[in-house]
Amino acid sequence: MTSFEDSDVLEYDQARWRTGDSVYEPLLSEKNTEKVTVNTSLPDELTRDELTLPSLSEPELARHYTRLSEMNYGVESGPFPLGSCTMKYNPKFTEDVAAHPKASVHPDRSERSIQGLLQIQYQLQEQLATIGGMDAVTLQPPAGAAGEFAGILIANAYHEANGDERTEVVIPDSAHGTNFASAAMAGYDVVGLPSAEDGRVDLEALDAALSEETAALMLTNPNTLGLFERDIVEIAEMVHDVGGLLYYDGANLNALLGRGRPGDMGFDLMHYNVHKTFATPHGGGGPGAGPVGVSETLKEFLPDPHIRRTNGGFERYTPESSIGKVHGYEGNWLVLLKAYAYITRLGDEGLADASAKAVLNANYLAEQIEYDIPFGPFHHEFVASAGEQDAADAAKRMLDYGVHPPTTKWPEIVSEALMTEPTEIESKRTLDQLAAAFNAVRADDSEALERAPNRTTARRIDQASAARNPQLSWQSLDDE
Ligand SMILES: *Cc1c(COP(=O)(O)O)cnc(C)c1O
Repeated sequence: MTSFEDSDVLEYDQARWRTGDSVYEPLLSEKNTEKVTVNTSLPDELTRDELTLPSLSEPELARHYTRLSEMNYGVESGPFPLGSCTMKYNPKFTEDVAAHPKASVHPDRSERSIQGLLQIQYQLQEQLATIGGMDAVTLQPPAGAAGEFAGILIANAYHEANGDERTEVVIPDSAHGTNFASAAMAGYDVVGLPSAEDGRVDLEALDAALSEETAALMLTNPNTLGLFERDIVEIAEMVHDVGGLLYYDGANLNALLGRGRPGDMGFDLMHYNVHKTFATPHGGGGPGAGPVGVSETLKEFLPDPHIRRTNGGFERYTPESSIGKVHGYEGNWLVLLKAYAYITRLGDEGLADASAKAVLNANYLAEQIEYDIPFGPFHHEFVASAGEQDAADAAKRMLDYGVHPPTTKWPEIVSEALMTEPTEIESKRTLDQLAAAFNAVRADDSEALERAPNRTTARRIDQASAARNPQLSWQSLDDE
């Protein structure tokens, strides 16, 4: 029997079917197609007579997807400490709940016949409100970023209803890019807020940034360096004193679960990233959900419909001064159902335990790695510096050691930043392996880093073009 230590450096070879240098796993439509005749009672001008569809046996199909998954790296491959993104494993029991035939009903069925669904949605609204210290929650926005946008529209509607035209949203320079985008899309001028020397909000800079023009301050806590904003009560007072609203970016709620509530800190509204905090699927462009919680005064502006309790039942209604729809019905319902299953199964104690372990794991990992971590004490994540190494190269090299890299080069306040969030799901053994991978990269020379990754299916890809010029269907590849 081979003996091994948890701290042994692992090497990883990703599957790679190829012909020569090209990765070989054809698209389904490239494997085999079949022309099928279309027979339908729909009007002729809306239909085709013939369609070309992939034609494969079940094993061919199963192998196709298994191979694609083997040529990829996911939360079920190994640790995935992509800071701020909270890449948790998605427990399978939530899939079972979402796959229940009674979970998928057409939302246009009569309310009388979907009382059970409305009840779960209502209960989830209540659970999230309790967790965040909010008075009401809408489930409608389909992502954190969409939640931010809906939240800023709510803030805008609130100020307008008070006859108060405000033009600015204040955002710390360490904030997630979506904060700036949401404020700008809602028509606001963004006022950037530099961080203080200790990585937190600089109260003097905040005082200078706030004015009668301030519609809101958007903040996450702990912030993107993992640091708790200790002055949050004073920050809230300062924002409220100029008539602004305090918006909580819920991406880091994982650190606070069951221990602290944004509402109690003075936040007026917030979004929840259920795909981060509550372990619903995440990434790859799949559906997420970004419910928004608000304090009592903002409740009337919530999106339409909202769900309330009636005498003996539940119903949809349109809040009095609703900002309208930001998505169909109650949002990405099956994702929300998974969050409901997760929250209900964990309960108060389980949620508090999750945040305790998230913080413990980040602090344990930080102790094991030979990297400078300029800011602390941190909570569920930390930002290490790759020092003289290029953070992006270091990240690519980590793949060779079988771990997904951390988030790189953000926030910019740390040079060559490696924003690392192991999450509560990892065991001590996995954290030791993760630390071994970090330290192996630390010891690698620049040549090894620049060549990396060596053993993954795809090597260096052109990330900028992939983001700016995405080809989302095989047809667009064919058009090239
Ligand atoms: C992930 C994230 C967001 C955006 O959330 P999405 O659900 O990805 O749209 C916003 N702020 C922070 C700090 C985040 O980490």
